[in-house]
Amino acid sequence: LPALIGKKRDGQRLEEAEIQSFVRGITEGTAQQGQIGAMLMAIRLRGMDMCETLALTRAMAASGRALAWPQAWHGRLVDKHSTGGVGDKVSLVLAPALAACGCKVPMISGRGLGHTGGTLDKLEAIPGFRVNLSPEEMRDALERVGCCIVGQSEELCPADRVLYALRDVTATVDSLPLITASILSKKAAEGLSALVLDVKYGRAALCPTRDSARRLARSLVWVSSQLGFRGSAVLTPMSQPLGRRLGHSLEVLEALEALHGGGPPDLRHLVTMLGGLLLWQRGLAEAAEQGQQLLKGVLDDGSALATFEAMLGVQGVPPKTAKLLCTGTPAHRWQVLGQASIQEELNAPGGGWVQQIEALPLAQVLHRLGAGRERAGDRINHRVGAELLVTAGQRLQEGEAWLRVHHDGGLDEEGRKALQAALCLAPEPPSSPPEFVTETIL
Ligand code: URA
Repeated sequence: LPALIGKKRDGQRLEEAEIQSFVRGITEGTAQQGQIGAMLMAIRLRGMDMCETLALTRAMAASGRALAWPQAWHGRLVDKHSTGGVGDKVSLVLAPALAACGCKVPMISGRGLGHTGGTLDKLEAIPGFRVNLSPEEMRDALERVGCCIVGQSEELCPADRVLYALRDVTATVDSLPLITASILSKKAAEGLSALVLDVKYGRAALCPTRDSARRLARSLVWVSSQLGFRGSAVLTPMSQPLGRRLGHSLEVLEALEALHGGGPPDLRHLVTMLGGLLLWQRGLAEAAEQGQQLLKGVLDDGSALATFEAMLGVQGVPPKTAKLLCTGTPAHRWQVLGQASIQEELNAPGGGWVQQIEALPLAQVLHRLGAGRERAGDRINHRVGAELLVTAGQRLQEGEAWLRVHHDGGLDEEGRKALQAALCLAPEPPSSPPEFVTETIL
């Protein structure tokens, strides 16, 4: 390993066999944490070309079992993945919605990475939810429900499990080849027919600019095609949070609202747009717009919600809890998820029109209040979060509340100041509505 690390440190290409031996070292436990961290940093600083990236993806996918499905499901096996954002609870809504449209969705997802939240952590805010299903349990879930959302494990992409956790704590998250290999190794193991990727850009995303997001999207779409499934990518801005609720339990609540046919318009739009693209690509809709209508239909008629409730059941949530969460009142939902001990409102320091609410400072403060990890394996506080009480384009009076922070103590003056800096006000209304999807790469 030291020779391989040195080679990458000096900017040389690694051969496929060398990449395989690095990944074997991770899976077999012969590579030391320090060596893995050093290699991650060398890759982060020196990069990898497309062939190295493909080889890394293949080696990581092969570190565990490949899932195999009945022939009858082929063509309907689909999934979505995002490069990570703030307030991004799309997977919680989209997986059951696609299943309600007749797809099979064996989603292998991730935990929080850097300041971005993770789907698995959000689902674990629901008491009893198990993310570690075996391949046999996944098959049973797909047969009975149509979808499941699980994590990497000893059996599924174990190499990504190690690398993902180490990247989070070694400042090596934002590397194009590492992101590509992390996302697509999980997808390659799923035995998919089609994948839609939400590649986010902006201050609160892994890709700071639209150009860097486009480069990542192209890398993801090309590697997908080499792995034998159809990938498409959508570029979406991530400067403002998605939806109005941030933090694990609060995001589960907002996902439930969307599954009830409501929720914030940007969340519903992204869910139906990504899903519509997939349904069209698989020939389950004649056009992406028709696919969007199908998804709106299953969100509005309760079938996506019923599928979500059934998914909770097969993933370990007691039926009573799942029912209370899915069909109970908001008070019932709080009862299930538990509420932080303090709900503190922040008031606008001046009056004006809201230009935008910056996602990054919000995420960083919530991270420090316990919503994120400082060290691999840290426990997170699911109840920490924030609710946006205003959106861009709204007028705000001085002293009016704009943010409600949920925490269990620890929000100090410095934290309040950082949160206040997220609110961008101006004397005039914003000149244009916020951008949404800016590009699709097929
Ligand atoms: N999602 C993943 O699974 N991996 C990454 O590296 C980024 C987002």
